[in-house]
Formats: sequence, C-alpha cells, structure tokens
Amino acid sequence: MCPHSVIRPFLFTKQEVKDAPENLLSVKGKGGGSISNYNYSILISPFDCTGCSVCAESCPDDALRMTNIDTLPTLNLNDQFDYARKLEKIRKIDNPLDK
Ligand code: SF4
Repeated sequence: MCPHSVIRPFLFTKQEVKDAPENLLSVKGKGGGSISNYNYSILISPFDCTGCSVCAESCPDDALRMTNIDTLPTLNLNDQFDYARKLEKIRKIDNPLDK
C-alpha cells in the first residue's frame, strides 16, 4: 500500500509489548498457529512519509486519513517504529505466516 514502506506490520512478544515505548497499540495475533503467541501492530515511520496520500486514497475501508504530524506529538510514533526495527535486527523469529 505505501510505496515508501512507511506503514509496516510487526509482531511482538508480550514482554516486548511491555518494554515498548509508551502508547504502543497492539492486538493479539489471529489466524491460528504460532501467530497467536504474538501481538500484532501496524506502525508507521512518520518522518519517512512524503504525504503523497496513496495510503489514504487506496484504503478500501477509509481507515486512514491524512493529518499534520504536528497534531501527533504524544503518540510517540517514531520511537515505536525505531523500537520495532531494532527488535527485527536483534532477534530472529520464524515468520508464522510463511508456509
Ligand atoms: S502518505 Fe504516502 S508516503 Fe505517507 S504513509 Fe501514505 S502512502 Fe506512505
């Protein structure tokens, strides 16, 4: 959906959710198999966003809308994204969706 990979899915263990930067939102993984051992989050890298609006215009459920980054300072989005990327580099988990 995002040509710049600003919007990405991540899986976290319960401990990783506890250790995450404040306000990380996640839901229990669904779909069976080992994915239910993880929490699932969709995170964004706000400073990589070009504001092209492709995501908001292409979302079939109107779940996305464009807004000014200055309205989101308390959501800690960049810290959350950096945390998830660092975890990806230091741990190796099997992709539970890779069949
Ligand atoms: S506005 Fe463009 S660059 Fe930003 S998240 Fe959406 S698709 Fe990606």
